[in-house]
Amino acid sequence: MRMRTQRQVVDYSLQKRALLREVYSGRVGVYEVCDASPYLKNAARFHGEPTDVRCPVCRRENLTHVHYIYGDELKQSAGQARKLAELPVLAMTLREFQVYVVEVCRGCGWNHLVQQFLLGRDGLAAAEPGSTRRAAGQVAAGGAAERDSSAREARRRRGAEG
Ligand SMILES: [Zn+2]
Repeated sequence: MRMRTQRQVVDYSLQKRALLREVYSGRVGVYEVCDASPYLKNAARFHGEPTDVRCPVCRRENLTHVHYIYGDELKQSAGQARKLAELPVLAMTLREFQVYVVEVCRGCGWNHLVQQFLLGRDGLAAAEPGSTRRAAGQVAAGGAAERDSSAREARRRRGAEG
């Protein structure tokens, strides 16, 4: 999936692999990482994007991707999960909003932040050189994120807002 205005992509696959190594070696308990909240499981059920990737923990179910959206322009919709198909429409309507992609196993409850990125009309102009001011800070902040703190932060915000 690659949307036209997608930018400032931060990928969390390294953090995920590191965490899974801890789980496989027994240093981190399965119960600690398979802790999807009822909200997240519902979001996966009603708004999730099915994948053909097996859950790395239980290996029984395929993972579901949930897309959470954040941004001032979203007002009361901020923190909601949206279907993937809804994002391009929002991207053409709004100037800028943040998307967090969380993978969830609806079987065992494994969940981890996969990726975050910006969408919105501002990206059409940002494709020109010289308009990448904000990118550096964002990427640095994302790289410093330990484990899946951002996923939990996203969930915490979701909880706080509704
Ligand atoms: Zn699983």
